[in-house]
Amino acid sequence: MSVRVAQRFAGVERSATVALLETVQRLRREGVEVLDLSGGEPDFATPSPVVTAAVTALRDGETHYTPSRGVPELLEAVAGKLAAENGVAVDPERGVIVTPSAKQALFTALMTLLDPGDEVIVPTPAWVSYPAMAGLIGARAVAAELRADDGFRMSRRMLEERVTGRTRVLLVNTPANPTGHVLDREEAEEIVAFAVEHDLALVVDEIYEKIVYDGGAHLSLASLPGAAERTLTVNGFSKAYAMTGWRLGYLAGPEPLIAQALKVQEHTVSCATSFVQRAGVAALTRTADDVAAMLKEYAVRREMTVAALNALPGVTCALPEGAFYAFADVRGTGLTSAAFAQRLLDEAAVTVAPGSAFGPGGEGYVRLSFAASREVLEAAAERLTRLAGGWAADAGARGN
Ligand code: PMP
Ligand code: GLU
Repeated sequence: MSVRVAQRFAGVERSATVALLETVQRLRREGVEVLDLSGGEPDFATPSPVVTAAVTALRDGETHYTPSRGVPELLEAVAGKLAAENGVAVDPERGVIVTPSAKQALFTALMTLLDPGDEVIVPTPAWVSYPAMAGLIGARAVAAELRADDGFRMSRRMLEERVTGRTRVLLVNTPANPTGHVLDREEAEEIVAFAVEHDLALVVDEIYEKIVYDGGAHLSLASLPGAAERTLTVNGFSKAYAMTGWRLGYLAGPEPLIAQALKVQEHTVSCATSFVQRAGVAALTRTADDVAAMLKEYAVRREMTVAALNALPGVTCALPEGAFYAFADVRGTGLTSAAFAQRLLDEAAVTVAPGSAFGPGGEGYVRLSFAASREVLEAAAERLTRLAGGWAADAGARGN
């Protein structure tokens, strides 16, 4: 083929997490009984007030373009939620854009802030799409490797080591995928001081904010003194409200940045889907009980999953503070993370995400999602226990 594709694809991989979701769907079509712990896909049904709101909007003929930023009711609901729950003040008319997914909001945020050649610091292990998005706009993600023995906390020192003259953005994800770390106040203050000192923007992905355990609290960076004017907050409906297929998210922040970001939205997707925006209003205003029930269930699954992992030879796993992933250290099995994930798939039809997909610091770990039912988690634990006997024997034969 002679047609050349843009240079920007050099170094941009396909999404490992999306590829895993597709592998699972394909195997299931082929009749394989896969136990899927690979993806960030809540197994719950979308809460019924959300479904009802969408159906009503469809029946009412809300099937046309909306204002590019979003329908006023949803913009109000987002701004109201940010003020009440996050301590973040934004103007609903000028400080929010409702996007078709958090992914799109993130892409828009990075597009707004980065020129080709600019750098964004991404603490790793990190969700797979951050560096890819930077690459797609010709910018460069610079990994700042977090350490498991520090609980995957960021420090001013490690961030300082990554700043160059081209650094424009620090990307923060809290609660974090895949590590489960939840930002604490001291860490947040260090991050803001660092961003102010180097005049950096902060892009903060808070999509797992509702999923924090042990009474812990999510902290929005934009609520810290000095942070709001340089922070774009990204959030989405996929995880908290089990709405992955609806594709709805938002971007909120200072008006001068949102004014530019709006151009990205206007010239690419126009607006988020009209009736889905109505569903978004219901999600933000009428699902508190559903969200609380899901969190309670995730908490049980977290304990089950981590206990099962720690019972396996060569595997250790800390309890994640937030999100719905167990990030297990499998170095003691003698397998690489990719080999571990492949063996689980080939020999037990259990899918997990290899840590190597999440960048520096991820090798030696695998990510298991516990957004799957207890039955699936129990069955997966059984299959893993059976397999573990095999890898312990292999390691023994190699003299490990
Ligand atoms: N951020 C993180 C950390 C995620 O894990 C995901 C999961 N897909 C997203 C953003 C994107 O969510 P959405 O479905 O809204 O695009
Ligand atoms: N965010 C999820 C994950 O990390 C879903 C897949 C994706 O959108 O990347 O598995």
